[in-house]
Amino acid sequence: MHYEAAEGLAKESLRKLQTERLKRTISTCMRSSFYGSRLGALNIRPEDFTSPDDIRKLPFTTKDDLRGNYPYGLLCQPMDQYVRLHASSGTTGTPTAIFYTQNDIDSWAGLVARCMYAVGLRKGDVFQNMSGYGLFTGGLGIHYGAERLGLLTVPAGAGNSKRQVKLLRDFNVSGIHIIPSYALHFANFLKQEGIDPKSLNWRIALIGAEPHTEEIRQRIQDLLGIKAYNSYGLTEMNGPGVAFECEKQAGMHLWEDAYIAEIIDPETGEWVKEGEVGELVMTTLCRDGMPLLRYRTRDLTRFIPGDCACGRTHRRIDRITGRADDMLIIKGCNIYPMQIEQALMSLPEVAQNYLIELFKEGEMDQLRIKVEIKDEYFVEDMRALTALQKKIASRLRDEVLVTPRVELVQHDSIPKSEGKAVRVVDLRDK
Ligand code: ADP
Ligand code: ZN
Repeated sequence: MHYEAAEGLAKESLRKLQTERLKRTISTCMRSSFYGSRLGALNIRPEDFTSPDDIRKLPFTTKDDLRGNYPYGLLCQPMDQYVRLHASSGTTGTPTAIFYTQNDIDSWAGLVARCMYAVGLRKGDVFQNMSGYGLFTGGLGIHYGAERLGLLTVPAGAGNSKRQVKLLRDFNVSGIHIIPSYALHFANFLKQEGIDPKSLNWRIALIGAEPHTEEIRQRIQDLLGIKAYNSYGLTEMNGPGVAFECEKQAGMHLWEDAYIAEIIDPETGEWVKEGEVGELVMTTLCRDGMPLLRYRTRDLTRFIPGDCACGRTHRRIDRITGRADDMLIIKGCNIYPMQIEQALMSLPEVAQNYLIELFKEGEMDQLRIKVEIKDEYFVEDMRALTALQKKIASRLRDEVLVTPRVELVQHDSIPKSEGKAVRVVDLRDK
């Protein structure tokens, strides 16, 4: 059972729909000053697009294009047609702003509702949104989707764990949305307060907005006694609701009636082979206000080959392994923070949090990893601690081919940020 028939469209019908919507999107784009001149110079005409694969005739759009034409250079409608704007979190630099017409808000809410339905939320469920509101799309984006589905929606916002628990209990909440780093922090909080997560009525968590490994998902599920589903989105593509796991938890369906997704080699810009990892590039198909063509997300993933057992025909992408610009180069080795997380979280002694620090020693770049250790392993016996330190360092060396300094710290001692977790600190210029 799907929320909308479009989720089960035969592949060919889906491609036809994509072609129609791509043509319309290109025509709309021509109205913005940015695309008007860029597409005009290349003599791009909508009628030359006869299949979704023709998308390769279009140039890429980058985050710098958005920044360079900030704030209004990509708007395609008269100003009085816009009803909302959001801005990206600015994790990697100056934020960008996206503007929505009423139609855009409506179609976005529909996509988010579809995602929530896919993980088993239904009318009658009570849903608490434990992510930040404001400019961040994880607030209102999820909120409107939940209301569209008909859930009783509690706009709790992030933080204030004590109040969160009260709301969860008072309203018998059955589903939540929470970013993974806060979910782990919240689990610690429940433990400290002596609250058994099983005493709550919740059964479903939507987790996303930041990269996290399968190990972290498992920990969230175990610690909270809940099923956790991966939710992917980015402000430039509306926000959440771009790709979402279904109940099979086997990759995220990317809604192909609303987006055309490509995976490219970030160096050459060419498509990678089916199933290979590369940079996700996306085109909006249902946006009037600020459509984007071939937007380079810088997120790394792959298409999962084959069909999903749930019957949805939209292709699935794998968990995001990181951003193309997250890569650290230490002593000639390429390292992604998610590899470090994966290695750490496979060790039972390691608690929920860690911090990667880059620093210079002489001319050499070095890696230091602060690792929170569970209380039962944080003992006074120096020999035991040294052995554990060595064990962690060697596990990391196996994974990233560099031996980092490992510093063991007490559980819950690494400072938390309000929104997305800060996992890497670069101390090299200081
Ligand atoms: P910012 O790019 O400033 O963080 P956004 O709030 O728009 O702004 O965040 C979108 C980005 O968050 C994505 O491009 C991606 O890097 C990351 N992200 C979102 N959802 C997930 C997810 N489920 N898994 C991994 N990364 C995610
Ligand atoms: Zn599925």
